Amino acid sequence: MIGVLAKPEDYDVVREFFELFKTPWEFCRRDRHYEVVLQADGTSNDRPAALVLLYGTEATAFDEQRKRLPGAPRRNTTLLWDGDSIPLYDKAVSVAVDGAARDVTFADTGDPVAFATRSKDRTVVRIGYDLFREIRHLLTTGQPPAHAGIPTLERHIALLRSWIVGAGIPVLEIPPVPAGHPFTVCLTHDLDHPSLRFHRFDHTTFGFLYRAVIGSVVKACRGRLPLSALRRNVSAALALPFVHLGWADDFWFEFDRYLQLEKGLASTFFVIPVKGDPGRTLEGPAPSLRASAYAASDIADRIRSLASGGSEVGVHGIDAWLDSGRGSQEREAVSRATGVPTAGVRMHWLYFDAQSPARLEQAGFAYDSTFGYNETVGFRAGTLQAFKPLTARQLLELPLHVMDTALFYPSHLDLTPEAAKKKVLPLVDEAEQHGGALTINWHDRSIAPERLWDGFYLDLLDELKRRNPWFPTSAQAVAWFQRRRAARFDNVRQDDGSVQVRASAYGAGAIPGLTIRVHKPSTSDGPLRPMRRTEFIDAPLTESVDARVAVSYP
Ligand SMILES: [Zn+2]
Repeated sequence: MIGVLAKPEDYDVVREFFELFKTPWEFCRRDRHYEVVLQADGTSNDRPAALVLLYGTEATAFDEQRKRLPGAPRRNTTLLWDGDSIPLYDKAVSVAVDGAARDVTFADTGDPVAFATRSKDRTVVRIGYDLFREIRHLLTTGQPPAHAGIPTLERHIALLRSWIVGAGIPVLEIPPVPAGHPFTVCLTHDLDHPSLRFHRFDHTTFGFLYRAVIGSVVKACRGRLPLSALRRNVSAALALPFVHLGWADDFWFEFDRYLQLEKGLASTFFVIPVKGDPGRTLEGPAPSLRASAYAASDIADRIRSLASGGSEVGVHGIDAWLDSGRGSQEREAVSRATGVPTAGVRMHWLYFDAQSPARLEQAGFAYDSTFGYNETVGFRAGTLQAFKPLTARQLLELPLHVMDTALFYPSHLDLTPEAAKKKVLPLVDEAEQHGGALTINWHDRSIAPERLWDGFYLDLLDELKRRNPWFPTSAQAVAWFQRRRAARFDNVRQDDGSVQVRASAYGAGAIPGLTIRVHKPSTSDGPLRPMRRTEFIDAPLTESVDARVAVSYP
């Protein structure tokens, strides 16, 4: 059990942090003894504990005693830990002591940002940044695109865990992995342009013709488009008048071809509720280009058959992010068209602000999946886990990680398929390492001319399937995370060589179970080194309401 001492203004973020690092903890109580104390309240009270993790940038009594005051505060630095980067967004200080192990250092100067002192019955790790300020930044503002590839929040958890394990104390947790799978993948599709026939002489039609003919010729000349694809695009452009006359198939109105490509994997379609409305920003009307040429009701038959086939249909919102009244209307419009109530939303063009989670929740949504980047791919919140934004009471945010347009648009990353693969696979590796849900958005018309990004998508699916993730709808993934949040450690006992835990988890149904994981403690009594890889033992915490799990370690 970890006892936590934090500043009262950080209590909300502490609670959320320990939903993501799901391990037994509580705010320190005077009458309790803790084996581990995580102290981030700016003081260094001498609580009896086998391990004290002292986070913070201000000088504490501990520093005074050691006659080693922290260095001058720096901002926007990067830590280096065993070859991994951990960007910091608030203040950080060096806590150098001569001869200390340089396990965690500033990437640029090499100065230590953490060190451990060890005596027979007590270890203190002094860490020169404020953990909960960092977590708050990640869950609210998020990371700049330059750090998109780094799962910073997961690395904060891993580093904290490794100090505990390194100090010879086992770590018990319910990891963000669904039983039987190393991680989760949410396949999603924003429906921005589900039919060519909704567009006459508008910018979408002209953009399509330009890119299908001139853009494709230029790309083919540069060797970035195979001739077969060039042929497909030019034929599609020539067919356009016949599509409008009804003499040729509308090749954008085939977004349900995703069901064939995904072959039984669940996916989620986000559908626009209203036609011809660009919506608003906080400053005034949104650009007219944001308006949709269709409403959910225009494709009701098609989305009803998706929903009855097991796909999820959510709302691709226009104004829901800044107006809960409009949010309710948007949710009802999509629910009416689909014939089943919907609880999920992703905003069109990823419009979002700090108050959006509270407004979306008030509009009746159970989850949102907007928090991501338009211009790049990766971990804006530094995590693969669904989290509760600090302004929400219940709603979970399922962060968005990989979007097709970010990879391939000339104004964004403008990657070749090979370069895009090199960009995406490391994100999949992180998912495999940390667990969580990797969320992918492949737009409706991306599998049709002129984009023709279906080949890349199929290759990506093959690569994902090889790693055996769970492929649920977004709502199912969120339900799994809610179930994990609801799990409780009722009783944890550590005896010699074993950990006994009584934990409870409620709800079952079609979603995979939870897992109890015990990370084996290090048996070395040399200097404390935070090792990146830990050994662990898993035991199922399936649909049981009240399970007792005993795991032995040497
Ligand atoms: Zn959109």
